[in-house]
Amino acid sequence: MISVEEALGKVLGFVDVLEEEERSLLDCLGQVLAEDIYAPFDVPPHDNSAMDGYAVQAESIRGASYERPRILRVVGEVAAGHVTGLKVELGTCVRIMTGASLPEGADTVVPFEATDEVDRKRTSASEAEIGIRCSLPEGSNIRQSGEDIAKGELVMRCGRLLHPAEIGMLASLGKGTVLVIRRPVVAILATGDEVLDVNQPLLPGKIYSSNTYSLAAQVLSYGGIPRVLGIAPDDVGQLSRALRRGLSCDMLVTSGGVSLGDYDVVKQVLAAEGDISFWTVCMKPGKPLAFGTFRRNGKKNVPHLGLPGNPASSMITFEVFGRPAILKMMGKRNLTRPSVTAVMESPIKNDDNRRIFARVIVSRREGKYFARLTGPQGSGVLTSMAKANGLAVIPETTKELKPGTTVDVMLLGWGEAQD
Ligand code: AMP
Ligand code: MG
Repeated sequence: MISVEEALGKVLGFVDVLEEEERSLLDCLGQVLAEDIYAPFDVPPHDNSAMDGYAVQAESIRGASYERPRILRVVGEVAAGHVTGLKVELGTCVRIMTGASLPEGADTVVPFEATDEVDRKRTSASEAEIGIRCSLPEGSNIRQSGEDIAKGELVMRCGRLLHPAEIGMLASLGKGTVLVIRRPVVAILATGDEVLDVNQPLLPGKIYSSNTYSLAAQVLSYGGIPRVLGIAPDDVGQLSRALRRGLSCDMLVTSGGVSLGDYDVVKQVLAAEGDISFWTVCMKPGKPLAFGTFRRNGKKNVPHLGLPGNPASSMITFEVFGRPAILKMMGKRNLTRPSVTAVMESPIKNDDNRRIFARVIVSRREGKYFARLTGPQGSGVLTSMAKANGLAVIPETTKELKPGTTVDVMLLGWGEAQD
């Protein structure tokens, strides 16, 4: 039996960062950039108004006040998206909207609120002129071209993780597609004579394959692409054939068939078709967990995670080993979940010195985090996983955890716990 760290080291030691591919912008969210991005032009591309108001020369309004407004002649109007040939000179102005290009000659924008426009409208006074009621320093309320990004600037380096703001920045540079590290394709195969797919009628002695779907959903949520291979019975030949259908994928994941039962055939298949790296890990749930590699013609072996069949065990082991593997393949550097130190409110017994990943509900009260078990922790109890928003990590050396003790809790990233 090996430690969680040793096991993770072996899994990560086998997976590599994948190749790059060109993708359209919206498909790249959460992916890692595989090129340096330089600005092909200034952002914003032109000087423009930051307010709705009047474009003036600061010189024209020097000394203006509410009591003694400067009266300027309005020579026209410019809206965002339009370019005019209008010129602003001393004593004249152009009515301008937010985002509109600054007309030639103007160096300052006076917002509507600092003019007598409303009063003029109310009294039907001439709109060919406007009274400016304050003096502003030159450059006020103007966004300079290149203020955000200057032409030629290195905007993002290769390796940058693309969040919504990065996606927006790339769009502002006119990039409709970018090079990113591709998402791994993860093959998912459920094993067991008893498991059925959801679209089959439930027969005596059978259960539905929840694992197929929880694992595929985990792959999606980690950024990978699931390829569901279906269900294989507990038979070495049929299981091998089913797995071979996934050999073009970047990782094979099976659920079930890795414990010590008579029909636990995954290890036999791995031994015959590849190499077993390990098959028991000092953790709970998830002790029977096989990792190895599957041979394929002329190419590097495919990593194979053989997860236990119990629904909570398969999800937790995939969270602990599959998620970092997927993130590494995607070129991400941070492979660990954020964690918090929480006061454990439920007692936990650890009778066989394994690292326990306890399903908990984490909440924050008066500046402190608290964690309580989601209920019975049987590894077949999937509701205990569905209620959890964190996994409390109880060290191998802790025999008995008393309420009030602090523990590290990995946050599962799906926010609030739900009952
Ligand atoms: P195994 O690891 O094959 O011994 O399975 C352990 C337990 O998990 C058994 O009770 C199985 O019926 C159950 N199980 C196995 N595969 C699945 C699956 N795909 N979905 C839900 N439960 C499963
Ligand atoms: Mg089984």
